[in-house]
Order: sequence, then structure tokens, then C-alpha cells
Amino acid sequence: MAKCDEGYLCEVCGQPVQGLTTSALYLQYVIGWVDPETLHTRRECHIRCQPSLAQFIDDERFSAVLMDGDFDRRQLDQRFATDRAELVSRGYRRLHELQKKRTSPTVQEYPLPEVIARWR
Ligand SMILES: [Zn+2]
Repeated sequence: MAKCDEGYLCEVCGQPVQGLTTSALYLQYVIGWVDPETLHTRRECHIRCQPSLAQFIDDERFSAVLMDGDFDRRQLDQRFATDRAELVSRGYRRLHELQKKRTSPTVQEYPLPEVIARWR
């Protein structure tokens, strides 16, 4: 999303996805769920438009998203849900850090340190 002004459209709601911190694609990328080779082949989506992911963000900058049904965070194994919330929330904070940086890092430098280490 270096060229975020170009406005990739969300595959769910059809509105432009502006900025790293609203992008479900980049959130999944920084936490290692999307690998660098397929990043550019994936469709963009707002974090909020993907409740199965958004429900795991615990951050004051993000108003909580709840999801009903079998994949509701509150219905999942607690240990699993806690681990996942920690990972996804760290990824979300990472997006904020990246957005603040004056010198823009390369896309290869976006992910969390352990994700980068795994890809080496
Ligand atoms: Zn959307």
C-alpha cells in the first residue's frame, strides 16, 4: 500500500481501502498469514469488513468488532483465542508504526520480526 492513494477497492463493501491501518490484507501479511509471493495477487479488504479477523484486535484505536456464530471469539477455545488476539493485535499496532514512519520501509520489512525470521 505504498501507493495507497490509488485506492484499492474492498472486495466486501466496494469502497477504497485507504491506509495501512484499515487494510485486512496488510494486517494478515504482517502477521505472516499472507506470504510475500501472493501479496499482490490478493484482493484488498477493510479490516472491519472481515469480522473473523477484526474481532481479535484489542487496541484503543480500534472499536471492537464482534462476530456471531461458530467462529465468535467468545465461543472459541480460550487459550487459542487469547493467542490469536495477541498476534492480531500486535499486527495491528505494527501497521500503525509503519504508517508513522518517515522513511517508508520496504514491503519486505513490514512483517513482525518473527515472521521475517521465518521467511529467511
Ligand atoms: Zn470494506
